[in-house]
Amino acid sequence: MHESNPPDTNTLERLRAIVGEAGWFTGPEAMAPYLREWRGLFHGRAAAVVSPASTREVSQIMAVCHEARIGVVPQSGNTGLCGGAAPDETGTRVILSLRRMNHIRALDAANDTIVVEAGCVLADIQAAAREADRLFPLSLAAEGSCMIGGNLATNAGGTNVLRYGNTRDLVLGLEVVLPDGRVWEGLTALRKDNAGYDLRDLFIGSEGTLGVITAAVLRLYPRPRDQVTALVGLASPEDALAVYTALRRESGDCVSGCELISTPAMDFVLRHIPGCRNPMQQVCPWYLLVELSTPREDSGLQSVLEQTLARLMDEAVVSDAVVAGSLAQGAELWRLRESIPEAQRQEGASIKNDISVPVSSVPAFVREASEVVAQACPGLRVCAFGHLGDGNLHFNLQQPPEMDGRDFLTRWDALCRLVDDVVLKFEGSVAAEHGIGQLRIGELQRSKSPVALALMQSIKHSLDPRGIMNPGKVLALPDEESRDNPD
Ligand SMILES: Cc1cc2nc3c(=O)[nH]c(=O)nc-3n(C[C@H](O)[C@H](O)[C@H](O)COP(=O)(O)OP(=O)(O)OC[C@H]3O[C@@H](n4cnc5c(N)ncnc54)[C@H](O)[C@@H]3O)c2cc1C
Repeated sequence: MHESNPPDTNTLERLRAIVGEAGWFTGPEAMAPYLREWRGLFHGRAAAVVSPASTREVSQIMAVCHEARIGVVPQSGNTGLCGGAAPDETGTRVILSLRRMNHIRALDAANDTIVVEAGCVLADIQAAAREADRLFPLSLAAEGSCMIGGNLATNAGGTNVLRYGNTRDLVLGLEVVLPDGRVWEGLTALRKDNAGYDLRDLFIGSEGTLGVITAAVLRLYPRPRDQVTALVGLASPEDALAVYTALRRESGDCVSGCELISTPAMDFVLRHIPGCRNPMQQVCPWYLLVELSTPREDSGLQSVLEQTLARLMDEAVVSDAVVAGSLAQGAELWRLRESIPEAQRQEGASIKNDISVPVSSVPAFVREASEVVAQACPGLRVCAFGHLGDGNLHFNLQQPPEMDGRDFLTRWDALCRLVDDVVLKFEGSVAAEHGIGQLRIGELQRSKSPVALALMQSIKHSLDPRGIMNPGKVLALPDEESRDNPD
């Protein structure tokens, strides 16, 4: 299926003419930021970077690439964690950067919708919603640089999924340029539309392998007016689950964030991130960051939070707790959680697992998976953290301090396989929110049924018969797949 060719001079000139000098980047220096991701885990080469300014230009680019069978790698903010936006080593692909398509086309407060182009930075969309006294709830630590096109293409999760769902749940309509250059104008602002198959959901989470998302209609929500945050110290993930359940019940389901943090994760942040300090009086084996919010002013959430935590302390479920006294203090607590990826980078090499299991299975999963990896690599530190309320943990493995980082990374596949086996035992997912990209292709093959994989291949083939959309991402080549699934 992957039939793309290197572009010849004539094709490159045609592409350059479409985007003009403002959208044309060649040469190592100009292309460098597009060729590697921030952690340096994935890098490649490309024939050129094109950055169109309109849907029309995207459509023209795709038509040229389709005709000439050139592989195209869509890229938005380049913050993805699975190498989906990085080109391969062939140097034959064209990177299509959406960053110049960064306009907010419309905001309809009465319909609670906003129409945005794919290159809008997530934080700018949040700000536009705030100005209209609304909330766009998608929130993640990369929000200052990731773009909505990338959020949609990865179906990003983040810290508000508990209340508002994944990116998929925040979208009403999409505009997509297909691999042959045709434009699917699906920018509907309707909440109900059962006329035929849901095409929108095909493209959300497809990681640039089915088409280029150029714009979207997003849902807006009432802006929270009362918001309280606390950091809770605990002995175990079981206790964390008990706190989550109690707070949901006592607050009338107003828990909007529920993030589990292991001791190693907290230690790395305190060691490496300037200005971060542990507000607890004691060191606890686990921490839970909780946020309650509601659009009602003076809803009494603060006292609900304080009273519930006090009761749980009396019952010895909670060891220690700090309730933020202001929004600024709440932001400081969130900074502890959001700094974990950067702190991990500074601590050395780490192997990432982005898994989900049923919420009720999180404690048993953590126990079992920790034992398995500790046996396989003594001294390794389990840096588990993430969205407890979604059953989604970043079960990351940090190198033993005395081991060479590169040696540790050679164990990536073996250690991930051990973790995945435990995930599958609990009927979980090996790719909960970051996607597959080039990092987890083998894991997708191992974890999905032959029927599911065949359906994915046939959707890919019918939309992109020449295999030019983000070649080598998400799906294995057909021959690799048939090796893994002989039937
Ligand atoms: C510090 C940090 C924290 C993070 N936290 C979270 C988190 O909590 N939850 C979470 O889900 N993710 C998280 N991520 C991962 C990342 O931010 C998300 O995956 C984000 O949605 C990617 O957006 P992007 O604009 O950077 O996309 P990119 O990295 O540019 O692209 C990601 C994928 O989408 C494709 N793509 C990009 N734009 C388009 C388009 N317009 N049309 C079609 N395909 C496209 C690319 O080809 C690639 O496969 C985090 C990343 C960092 C660095």
